Parts: sequence; C-alpha cells; structure tokens
Amino acid sequence: MRVGIIGGGVGGLCLAQGLTKAGIDVTVYERDHTPESRLQGFRLNIEPVGSTALHACLPDTLWQVLVATAGDSGRGIGFLDEQMRPLIMVGRGDEAPDPLDPATGEHAVSRVTLRRLLLAGLGDVVHFGKEFTRLDGNEVHFADGSTATADVIVAADGANSRLWAQLHPEATRTELPAVAVGGKLFLTDETSAWLPAELLQGKNVFWPIRDFLFTAVFRRREDPSAVVDRLGPDLRALGVDPARLLADSADRDYVMWAYIAHRDAMPADFNSLDPEVAKAELSDRTATWHPALHRLIAASEPDNLFQTAFTAARPLSLGRAGNVTGLGDAVHHMPPVGGLGGNTALRDAQHLCAALTAVHKGERSLGDALTDYEQGMLKHGFATVREAVRNTEGAITRNTLKRRAARTFFRVCGAVPPLGRAVFAD
Ligand SMILES: Cc1cc2nc3c(=O)[nH]c(=O)nc-3n(C[C@H](O)[C@H](O)[C@H](O)COP(=O)(O)OP(=O)(O)OC[C@H]3O[C@@H](n4cnc5c(N)ncnc54)[C@H](O)[C@@H]3O)c2cc1C
Repeated sequence: MRVGIIGGGVGGLCLAQGLTKAGIDVTVYERDHTPESRLQGFRLNIEPVGSTALHACLPDTLWQVLVATAGDSGRGIGFLDEQMRPLIMVGRGDEAPDPLDPATGEHAVSRVTLRRLLLAGLGDVVHFGKEFTRLDGNEVHFADGSTATADVIVAADGANSRLWAQLHPEATRTELPAVAVGGKLFLTDETSAWLPAELLQGKNVFWPIRDFLFTAVFRRREDPSAVVDRLGPDLRALGVDPARLLADSADRDYVMWAYIAHRDAMPADFNSLDPEVAKAELSDRTATWHPALHRLIAASEPDNLFQTAFTAARPLSLGRAGNVTGLGDAVHHMPPVGGLGGNTALRDAQHLCAALTAVHKGERSLGDALTDYEQGMLKHGFATVREAVRNTEGAITRNTLKRRAARTFFRVCGAVPPLGRAVFAD
C-alpha cells in the first residue's frame, strides 16, 4: 500500500511520521518550495488531544524535544472583567501535571520548531515544490506538470483544499462576522515590573461589555542548548542534526494576547490595516479598561502582530469511503478561537494512521477502515467546529444583557466553589 499525502502541514506531516513509524510507504507532496518558505511568527497551543497524537506518531526522542522546547502556560484559566476583577478562576492552584504525559500535557509550540520536528527523519518522504492541481483516478497532477500515483490519497492541504473541493464540491464555508488581532509582549525586567500577577500566570479570558481579550503567558521550559546537550546523542542516532533542528527555537518568554471584536464594530478594512493602525484602534477601544491591559496591547511590538479573518466549514456527510480521504482544515476548517484546529488535525492524523496500519497488517479492508475513520473524523471534527463557532459568537456578541448575565453567572460560580467545580469539571 502506497500512501500519498497532499499537504505537509501540521496534520499531513504528523500522519507521515506515524505511517513511517508503522513501516508504511508514504510520500508527502507539499506546495512550499522549502521547509522554511513560510516562517509563521505565532505559536500553536497543543492540548492533550494533540499531545496524544504527537506522542503516538513521533519517535520518542522527538516527542521529548517537543516537550522540552515548548512554552508552558502554567495551570488554569481565569475569567475576569475588563477592570481585571476576577469572575472565576478555574484550576489555577492545581498541581502541574507531568508535561511528558500526553494525556494531560499542554504545550505552546513554536510553529517553526514544530515543522522541523515533524519533518525530522522523514528525508525524501517529503517532496517540496509540488503544488497539487487535480486528481485523475489514482493519478495526482502538480503545477510543475509532473504526476504521481498512490493507492491511498489524503487531502491534508489545509483550509482552501483543492483536493477536497474537487472530491466534494458541496463542501463550503461560512464567513463569520468577527475580526481578531493578536500580539505578544516579551517578558523583560521592565515589563515584568508592571505586568500584574494575573497576566503572568496561566490563561485569562477578559469578558467586557463589548469585545473580548484572551491572554496566556509562555515560559520556555528548557534552553535549546541544554536540550541539545541532553538529547543530542539520541537525535544523532535518529539521523537528525540537533543544532539545525533547534536553530530557531530560542524564543524569549512572553505574554500573548488575542483581541476579538464584531466585524461591524471595526473599520471595514480592519483586517488589511497596517498593524500600527490596527493597534491604535484597539488602544481607543481599551482606553477605559484596566491600565495594564491597555498597556499590554500598546507596548507589544507591531512586528509580532497578526490579523485574521474567521470562517467555518459547513457540516458535511459522506457515504462509503473510496481510496481518497481527508484530514484537518481541508475538511473541517474552524475559527481559531479556543485553539482547536491544529489539535483536531493532529487527532485526525493519529486516527487515520491507526486505520491504515490495520489495513497494512491485513486486519481490515481499506474500504471498511477508511469509512470508519471518516465517520469518526466528521463527527469529532464538526463538533469541534461548532464549539469554535460558539466560542466566537460568545466573544463577539453585542447583546449586553447576555454578557452581563454570563458575567454574573461566572461570578456566582466563583463565589460558590462547589457550583464552580460542577460547571467547569470538564
Ligand atoms: C492565528 C491562528 C492561531 C491558531 N492557533 C492555534 C492553536 O493555538 N492551536 C490549534 O490547535 N490550532 C490553532 N490554529 C489553527 C491551526 O493552525 C490549523 O487548524 C492547522 O494548521 C490545520 O492543520 P492542517 O494540517 O489541516 O493544515 P495546514 O497546517 O494549514 O497545512 C496545510 C499544508 O498544505 C499545503 N498546501 C496547501 N495547498 C496545497 C496544494 N495545492 N498542494 C500541495 N500542498 C498544499 C500548505 O502549504 C500547508 O503546508 C490557529 C490558526 C490561526 C490562523
């Protein structure tokens, strides 16, 4: 069985690692010309579901490097109002879990480092500069005129998947009326002196009467040079050059933030505004907030700002699977509110890897294995899309009654710990 994966992003590469580990013949076709073609400046928050997938698919040494080089956001999540008055603090004092345990581990991973880790040891499994254009039977066509064949073909080409659109023209997306800006403020002696304690621990959700702010602190667990000293020999045994693998992972510690607002509350061209102008707009909107929140945004470097639009895939149902399937954003793209998309793509990769491994071992037919995989992937993927859309709607709602009621509810949960524990148990 030869597997061809279109797209070497988070999900496609995780699947390639898992299949390689299982001894299955796999090739990834990636549009980018080199691994460093698109160096994105923001991080991916990996939750236990993503950790479990990475742990299952990566060689153990690479999993250890991922954990060691990742940032830690500390425990718990705080819900506060815009004056930093706590509504409820969930799990903040809990004991920190073992970060190496995938069932509980949360990791803020640099996208650059994650891509390098996911590529490590794959060698010529990944073909760069291969932009998929169309599928003809089992023959995949690329923009450079070349073709390739495979027995199983996987659409892992992200939110605007050409392969998934060719297979399922009925798969469409909805535009959500939300805009977002994110940034980071590096932790220095100067910034640490004025940042309040709340912003220096865990994650926080600020729920004012309009708009929404999320913050999280990231502290690197281990210096990359220490990781090279500790795990270098194991990496070299895998055929990986440790210095190159960790070349860009020396990020400084920081507080990241994401500000989300209703599209109609912002200038029509907000997402294409110069980052400094977008920041000035936020400065106006947060003028009456707690001074530290206002300053957090104002003092962040414009080079690290990102602006993004929000769309969500419409639910899709599939019948019996053929030999072409999909994973991640290609199938169930979602808004990034809650940091769920990458984790879901990783989960898909782990489950598809298990399905193909069962076929490889002769335990299941390809049709049965892929049909079961697709049903599970659609159910979980679109439940997660709904969750991300709900998160977005909560963040942008302009219904002040609803906002005040939610704030009161959180405050009551905070004041009555057994109620808070029951509500936030999951
Ligand atoms: C600002 C922001 C913050 C986010 N934060 C988080 C977070 O904290 N946690 C989280 O879980 N998720 C987060 N996400 C979502 C996450 O980035 C995506 O859900 C995830 O990358 C999806 O993985 P994927 O493998 O499906 O697609 P991608 O990672 O997008 O990979 C698709 C790959 O396919 C390639 N490709 C595209 N077209 C072609 C073609 N025609 N031929 C060949 N190759 C092609 C692309 O170059 C790319 O490498 C965030 C998203 C944004 C925008």
